[in-house]
Amino acid sequence: FASGLQNSTIFRSQGLIGGQWVAAHDGIWNFFRFNPSTGEIIADVPFMGRRETNDAISSAYQAFNSWSKLTAAERSKYLRKWYDLIMSHKEELGQLITLEQGKPLKEALGEVSYGASFIEFFAEEAKQVYGDIIPATLADRRLFVLKQPVGVVGAITPWNFPLAMITRKVGPALACGCTVVVKPSELTPLTALAAAELALQAGIPPGVLNVVMGNASDIGDALLASPQVRKITFTGSTAVGKKLMAGAAGTVKRISLELGGNAPCIVFDDADLDVAVKGAIAAKFRNSGQTCVCANRVIVQEGIYEKFAEAFSKAVQNLQVGDGFTEGVAQGPLINEAAVQKVESFLQDALSKGAKVILGGKRHSLGMTFYEPTVVTDVKSDMLLAREEVFGPVAPLLRFKTEEEAICIANDTNAGLAAYIFTNNVQRTWRVSEALEYGLVGVNEGIISTEVAPFGGVKQSGLGREGSKYGIDEYLELKYVCLGDM
Ligand code: ADP
Repeated sequence: FASGLQNSTIFRSQGLIGGQWVAAHDGIWNFFRFNPSTGEIIADVPFMGRRETNDAISSAYQAFNSWSKLTAAERSKYLRKWYDLIMSHKEELGQLITLEQGKPLKEALGEVSYGASFIEFFAEEAKQVYGDIIPATLADRRLFVLKQPVGVVGAITPWNFPLAMITRKVGPALACGCTVVVKPSELTPLTALAAAELALQAGIPPGVLNVVMGNASDIGDALLASPQVRKITFTGSTAVGKKLMAGAAGTVKRISLELGGNAPCIVFDDADLDVAVKGAIAAKFRNSGQTCVCANRVIVQEGIYEKFAEAFSKAVQNLQVGDGFTEGVAQGPLINEAAVQKVESFLQDALSKGAKVILGGKRHSLGMTFYEPTVVTDVKSDMLLAREEVFGPVAPLLRFKTEEEAICIANDTNAGLAAYIFTNNVQRTWRVSEALEYGLVGVNEGIISTEVAPFGGVKQSGLGREGSKYGIDEYLELKYVCLGDM
């Protein structure tokens, strides 16, 4: 695909502003994109900043006038068409994701369907945005509640799901009448641009969806500074999320944040071993451990600890590492060298404090940014591996005695996105699910994200929810209208 890339009908390597594919103002194209698996250059894209972002904001602001006045059914038709185009280009989009992000093609194709599902879902959901009529307290009054789109939205997205993190924001925003300026990760702009090309092919009017990329902090600052941007929606690191939240204060923007997690995966003595192993592997090793809902701590009760460690390691050993385009590969490369160095430093910290590697533990013989799927035992709560998100293929095993202790370990973090529990006891399922300070809980299941359920965190994992009937509220304002003199 790399060599035929330029010929693909969805390949674009410029920004999208007001329906036009554009270069950076200064015309310097010095922003190369690499295949993380081979280091090969796959494209160069414009390095944009404040000026282009302001142009994009103006386009979105202008487009909002007409887009927000269409009926939900009219917008839904455009979105349905966009969804259909994404699905009919599933193979090409999947290849593009694997090429620039590295995940195995099968996972990439899964991401295309998952990503597209948000567009389809919200195309329908926007038709259900009902207002209210409130019984008045005075006889001559009538009280109404209208739901209206917030306005221009700035969407800043990460590299680990180059398509789905965009559609999860743009789907609901466009569906309810907002217009958007997207800033995809500088590591994975090509999938975003391909999706935007398909939006144009679907007839979505100029300016409704704009894409800029380049200098992240300049683009971010321009979005924050503009009074025309009424909302920022962000998925990425907690550090950048906090910066954006502080920056949004200047113009009091609405804000949604999906930030880092530190997901516990608790395996109780009464769990089904096979189900727990399968679920923990799915939760830990998807995208080579590079998702914010990846199990970051596998917390195992002492009665099942040895058996689980053995069965888990055996299964992890079977995960084939390699280029995402190779049949049968389950673990692609990490996104870049910095990601590998983070894994190495976390592991070093754990080993220096008494943890033991029972599988993997070093760079893979394939070189580049490939890392061996790794299992570490004797991990303690004070180690970096347990305190922060490793974002790589390393599974740290911690040991606990009682349910109370497991909940305590699980909640002992500033993060609160996903948690997983494995147990066959129904009372425990309820007790623990209620006690976990997390936005999502998987019980006997490691893959739980879906467009129909609310996704989002508590504590420092974020604000707001994406997907589901609740997700559309992030893009709507309530307006109370009081009719007097009746
Ligand atoms: P990750 O560690 O997953 O790359 P980041 O938070 O660094 O997470 O990146 C997520 C997104 O935030 C990317 O699109 C990145 O370009 C963007 N970003 C990084 N720094 C800033 C900033 N100062 N302002 C706005 N966006 C930023």
